[in-house]
Order: sequence, then structure tokens, then C-alpha cells
Amino acid sequence: CENYVKLSFPALSRNESYARAAVGAFVSQLDPTVDELGSVKAAVSEAVTNCVVHAYSECETVGIINITARIKDEEVYIKITDKGCGIEDVKKAMEPLFTTKPELERSGLGFAVMESCCDKVKVSSKVGKGTTVTLTF
Ligand code: ATP
Ligand code: MG
Repeated sequence: CENYVKLSFPALSRNESYARAAVGAFVSQLDPTVDELGSVKAAVSEAVTNCVVHAYSECETVGIINITARIKDEEVYIKITDKGCGIEDVKKAMEPLFTTKPELERSGLGFAVMESCCDKVKVSSKVGKGTTVTLTF
């Protein structure tokens, strides 16, 4: 059987720990190991931070982040969506150490962390429309 939760909140850095904890609490029903739970939380943190730091950085009003966390057949799928600026070249953006914000002390390792924590990271993005990151565990 399938189970899911949906979260929706403004892209504020003070909501990052909420998103991390909420997704962690949902995934805990599968009795994950400490390491597995840590991986889920770390990957969600990176994706949410990207929405806060990059997606809406040019916007005057604060944008919304939507998260759907889904469990099906013991597999976990977490979809993080923003309606922000989008990514011009997804392949390049996912290369380790690539960042468009070096001045903000960004190291370009967010996607690399997600890839190391997840079985699969899928990014679909459209410039001016937004980005969806789907994490599979
Ligand atoms: P770090 O995560 O190490 O602090 P970073 O955020 O720059 O640095 P990544 O998380 O790997 O590194 O992201 C790489 C680049 O992809 C970003 O610099 C940004 O240009 C782009 N990017 C990532 N997520 C989004 C998003 N949701 N909306 C727009 N651009 C994004
Ligand atoms: Mg990042």
C-alpha cells in the first residue's frame, strides 16, 4: 500500500529544519537505521536550501516550496518543487564544485551530497518556471 504527505511552506531558511524533521518523521515509519535517516535528512536539507538560496533569489516576494514524500513498496520518493528561476544547464549544475553563487560561500556540493545519500536523484527544470528534484531511496 502507498502512503504520502505533502508539505507547503515559504522559502525561508528558518523553515529548513522543519522540512528536514518533518520528512524524517514521515520516513521513520519504515524503521530506518540511523545512517539511512541521516541520509534522507541530509539530502532533503540540500534540496530545500537550494530553493531558498537559488530559486527565488531574484524575487521580491518569498516563493513557495512544495514537498511530497511518498512510500511505496518500501521505497521512498521525495519530490521538492519550486516555482523559481529554474536551472539553465542541469547537467553542469550537478557537477561537483559547480556553483553560481561563490560569493555566498557556496561550495557547489549540494547535488553531490544528494547523489551520495540517495539511490537516484532526478532534476527537471525550466528557466523562468522552476525546478523539481526527485530523490529516491
Ligand atoms: P552548496 O550546495 O555546496 O552550498 P550550491 O548550492 O551552489 O552550493 P549545488 O547545491 O550543487 O551547489 O547546486 C549547484 C547549482 O545549481 C547552484 O549554484 C545553482 O546555480 C543551481 N541550482 C540548484 N538548485 C536550484 C534551484 N532549486 N533553483 C535554481 N537553481 C538551482
Ligand atoms: Mg546547494
